[in-house]
This record gives sequence, C-alpha cells and structure tokens, in this order.
Amino acid sequence: MEGTVQGVGFRPYVHRLAGELGLAGFVLNDERGVLLEVEGEAAAVQAFLERLPREAPPLAAVERVSRTPLEPTGEPGFAIRETPAGGEPDALVSPDSATCSDCLAELLDPADRRHRYPFVNCTNCGPRFTIVRGVPYDRPLTTMAGFKMCPACQAEYDDPADRRFHAQPNACPDCGPSLRLVEPGGRELSAGDPLEEAVAALSAGNVVAVKGLGGYHLACLAGEEGAVAALRARKHREQRPFALMARDLHAARELVELGPAEEALLTGRERPIVIAPRRPGARVAASVAPRSPDLGVMLPYSPLHHLLLADVGEALVMTSANVSDEPIAYIDDDALERLAPIADLFLVHDRPIHVRADDSVVRATSGPPLSIRRSRGYVPAPVNLPLDAPPLLACGAEQKNAFCLARGRRAWVGHHIGDLGNWETLRSFREGIEHFERLFAVRPEVVAHDLHPEYLSTKHALELEGVEHVGVQHHHAHMAACLAEHGELGTAVGAIFDGTGLGTDGAVWGGELLVGSLSGFERVGHLWPVRLPGGERAIREPWRMACAWLVETVGPEPDLPPSLAGTVAPERWAEVARLCVSGTASPVTTSAGRLFDAVAALCGVRSTAGYEGQAAVELEALVDPAEDGAYPMSLIDARPTILAVLEDVASGAEPGRVAARFHEGLARATAEACASTAEATAVLSGGVFQNRVLLERTTAHLEAAGLRVLRPLALPPNDGGISYGQAAVAAALVS
Ligand code: ZN
Ligand code: ZN
Ligand code: FE
Repeated sequence: MEGTVQGVGFRPYVHRLAGELGLAGFVLNDERGVLLEVEGEAAAVQAFLERLPREAPPLAAVERVSRTPLEPTGEPGFAIRETPAGGEPDALVSPDSATCSDCLAELLDPADRRHRYPFVNCTNCGPRFTIVRGVPYDRPLTTMAGFKMCPACQAEYDDPADRRFHAQPNACPDCGPSLRLVEPGGRELSAGDPLEEAVAALSAGNVVAVKGLGGYHLACLAGEEGAVAALRARKHREQRPFALMARDLHAARELVELGPAEEALLTGRERPIVIAPRRPGARVAASVAPRSPDLGVMLPYSPLHHLLLADVGEALVMTSANVSDEPIAYIDDDALERLAPIADLFLVHDRPIHVRADDSVVRATSGPPLSIRRSRGYVPAPVNLPLDAPPLLACGAEQKNAFCLARGRRAWVGHHIGDLGNWETLRSFREGIEHFERLFAVRPEVVAHDLHPEYLSTKHALELEGVEHVGVQHHHAHMAACLAEHGELGTAVGAIFDGTGLGTDGAVWGGELLVGSLSGFERVGHLWPVRLPGGERAIREPWRMACAWLVETVGPEPDLPPSLAGTVAPERWAEVARLCVSGTASPVTTSAGRLFDAVAALCGVRSTAGYEGQAAVELEALVDPAEDGAYPMSLIDARPTILAVLEDVASGAEPGRVAARFHEGLARATAEACASTAEATAVLSGGVFQNRVLLERTTAHLEAAGLRVLRPLALPPNDGGISYGQAAVAAALVS
C-alpha cells in the first residue's frame, strides 16, 4: 500500500480492522509504504479489502493498493512488525498537521496528564515533516530521538489500541520537550512559568520571538499600534503586511470576511494564513497592513499557539522571524543572535526543527482560493504529474524559490526557500534538495532549470554532472505548471503576466501570450516593449516605469507628471528619460508587473517600493468597485492605456477610478487577445495573477467568450510554482 501511510496511525488502524474481522497476519512499514498480509475467511478478507482504504485514518492518503494472493501460513494472530532495514525508501512523509480535537481536549482538561502541555500530539496530529531527518519514519530518525519516553508514554506508544500507538513525537511533561524563556543576550530566565511570563510580556506591549513548528515567529498584540510600529521599525522598516493569529474561528470572523471555503482552510489541518477582506471596525493596529483592504489571518496550529492565544485573549501579530529578505530563523542559536535586536524576549523549546517551513499563504477569491505560498502543512505531500517523469530535479527560479523532485507521476515540490540571493537561502536550497533526494529516493537523471544564466538555481543545476540538463523558458514553466496541475496534455493559450523572466530572445519578458503545451510553445503576443530604466533599480522605483511608458507614448522628453512632482526631482526624471531613449543599462521589457508600477506611479499611489510588486498590490487595493469603465487597450498594447491614464489623472480623477479602469481595461484586452487565437482553453498564471481583481475579471471575460479557464490551484501562480512547471516540461521532453 503506497501513499501517505506512515506516521498517520495506519498500522494500528489495520490492526484494529483485522481484529474486528477475525483475521490473522501482520502489518509493517517498509520503504514503499505499508506492507500487510491477512488470512482468514474469504468473506472477511473481502470485507477487509473493501473497508481498508475507505475507513483509513484522517491524515492518511492511500494512493495505491497492490495485492497478491498467498498461501495461508497459519499465522496465529495479527501483529504489527518491525520495519526491515535496507532497500529503497519511497514512503511518503506526511506534512505537519494542526493539533487535533482529541489532543486539544486533553490540553484543556485539568484532569489530563497533558493538561497545558505545549507539545501534546498523537498519530492524528503534530509535527512531521519539520522533525523528520530520514526515512523510514521512526523516532530515531526524527528530532525527538533525544527524548526517552517515560513508562506512561512508552505504554501508549506500544499499545495498538491507543491513539498514540507509534506516534513518533509522543511526549508528556515528564519526558518530552519543555519551554524556556530567554533574554536577548542569551540569559535564561528561570523564575516563574515561561508561558505565563511570555503572556505578561506580550500583554504589556512587548515583542516576543516564539519558536513554532517550522521556525520562529515574532509576536506582539495586533491591536496595539505602539507594539506593531516598533516591530516594523526593528524589522528594518519592513513594509509587507504582517500576518495575524486569531484564537479561534469566531475571533477570526471579527477580523475578516470569510466564506465557507476560507473557513474550511482556516480550520483545516494545513492551517495556512488566509488573506481575506478586512472587516470594518476590526480591532487591528494601522501598522499591521498599511494601505491594504485585506488582512492575513491564521488559527493556532500547535498546542503552544493554542495556550498563548487563549491566555493573551486577543489576536497577535505572528510574522516570520527574519530580517528583511533573509529566510525565517529556525535554529536556536542563530535565532537568538539574529533576532536579538528585534525581540524583547524569546519563548523557546528544546525540540529541534530539522527543516525550516514558513507558514503557507492562500488568498480568498470568488472562485477557489489561490495559493500564494505553499509550505508548512502542505509540504512534502506530492503533487501529481499527468505524465511519467524520469527521476528528475527541477531547480525553480530565483525569487520565491521552491525546488521540485519528481519520479513517475509524483512531483515533490519543496518548502518555500525564498529569494536565492544570500548564503543562507542558498544553503537551505542545497540542503533541502539533498534531504528530499534521500526522503523520496530520487536520484536525478534529468535536471531542469530556468534559462537565466545568473540565477543561482540555474548555476546549481549546471554544476551537476552526469545528468541531462533541460532549460525551460520561465513563462513556459508558469504555463506548464498550471496545465500539468489540471492534468491537461493538450494545447492552450496562456496569458502569463509576472515581474520578469528571461525570454528566448534574451529580452526581459513578463507580459506574454503563449500558445502551446507541456512540450513547447510559441510566443503569439506580448505587452508593448518598453525600457527598464536602470535595470533592477526600476523595480524599487516605480516612477522610472512611468517615465519609460511616457517616453514610449508621448515622446523622448516627457513632462514630469504633476502626480510625481512632489517625489521625483526634475533632473532625475530627465536623466531617466534619457536612459530610456539611449537604452544604456536599460534592457527592453514586456513585463506586466512593471506596467502596474507605471500606472501606480502615474496616479500618485507609489513612486518608490519597499518590495517588488508593492505598487501593484496598492493599486489593486484602491480599485473602486462602483467604477465600470475601462481604458482602451488594443490586444495587449498598453500605449493607449497610458495616454488615457495620463488624461484622467490630469483632469483630477480619483486614483480608485483610475485603478478600476486600468484593471478592467487589462482584463478585457487579455481576454480578447486569448480569444483571438484558435485555442479553446486559456491559462492565467504568473505572479501578477495573484491580483484578485485582475484574475476574477479576466476569467469572467474569457468565460463569456466561451473559453475554458485554467488557473493555478495547489501551486502558486508566482515563481513558487515554476519548478513544478519545469518538471512537467522536462518530463514531456525527455520521455
Ligand atoms: Zn492529536
Ligand atoms: Zn512521557
Ligand atoms: Fe515569474
């Protein structure tokens, strides 16, 4: 039996079922999953085989059952046997799972021996992926190896009828991990109860670093402006919205508007951060998510979170503990050092985190929720491929990196690594790949990578010897990821809009209309090309894109628009206009992300950005839902759009109106361009389609034109989905 069947209570379940039906035999975990033999009355065996997959435990995902009839051996009863050594590991390690209701009840029950024990877990919940060091999934190969179970825990672990039978992270206050409270300098505070002290510090407005499942969070009261503003300032003036943790669903409903799909996500065992529209009057400090109509909210997913939230009694900011673009801290010494300037206190524990896993993020839309970051709670569950892949590694892109290993119909997309620009992320990229290669026994024969020679992921791929290399164009990978996820092997037209990706002609692509399938594509259209003045600097300074678009539409010496007059010096404006004309250090780009930047800058929303895409996020936030007009755009030539924006802004139009007309114009033009091809299926992907307004409106226009619309589901439309797309393309090309 194959699938996610280890560490999920499968063997005790089989034991119970066999016992109930009076069957003899055995069950064991092996390298491929679970192996079992049963013997007894034919009818009982038949009933067993029927019920086995149907009544499997909640965390199990049975993918394949193979059966072979055997001669009866006269086995006396039913046994759970030891895992044999050796062989090829192929069993599936399950993702970390939120505390189950049984464990939560024990946590809150004063009579239970685990009352208020922050590490309670069982075979149905608790840490998995983040504590696994190798397979088979057994305690010695987890970070729980150093804790020797007390007799009471051992008895649970050994009893097939117990909920904790072979629960590898099983622990209690007598034998398991414990909390500690540490000061920024590293001095341990031994007086008092660490949790109580941390709660008091939070309630007094302090910032506390909290060690969680996949890394550290920085926590503070969400409703306390002073605390949130201090956290923002200490995190190097971080400008991204902070995630919140609410005590329960009722508390979450007071913060954001939730539909049934979002509530299911919030309370599900994956527990992602759900981005949803903020409720008017939500008690949240202004600095939590400045200029955003949305809030990102999650519910407690570890027993420690449950205790913390219940004791504090109000929502907390729970943001990844890192400094600007560094990855989330997860190793204790490193966290203490890196976070010392940010946190007032550290609430830590002694269960090591083997693999860092950031919180996953999904965004509510009118259709299915959109994955923005797929990591903790989802990884390493496999994503299926619609065709057989040789053992392969796909290295992904540079930003929001996540690698992917594949074999056969399975693709294991790794945890969110982040931007590969620094030593720390590169290390976790390399270690992550090695770890996954061992966990899933993939010895890559094919290595897929982006075409960009400077991406560290590409360099890593090309350093690997004795393998077949497959370069995959960035936007083709975006499109292929969406096609493969939907099991689509035919052709489609894809509108792939993102920040940047290297094109086959050496230009910086990003507003592409592609027709093709997994095995290839043709570029049938693209946004009007403009200069990217000063290259990378244009990403941090959206006003440069406004200048580039004006040079393209009104002429080589555009006037500085009044909306930018206060923020951009006339000399710099003229200088950048000259760059656009000469092309010096200014590659040509068809980027849709940069078009959003230009429009945001033109209507005075944002002239400089703290992170890539900030201007676009804020432009979307401004969209006036009452406005139904649209700017002209011929197919996807945005020059008339820019002229219309300029005219509207000059006549004093509200930014909300400009934003609405721009979104609607782009949505219509995109749908029209897709419909003008002979394809019946359209793919919408690329990071720009994290924009809910654009995604929903383009989808509506495409459907009205009679096209079938595919958009990413399990994987994000941004570069986090690239490696899976590369894997699908490589599989199509080499098989
Ligand atoms: Zn549990
Ligand atoms: Zn114990
Ligand atoms: Fe991209």
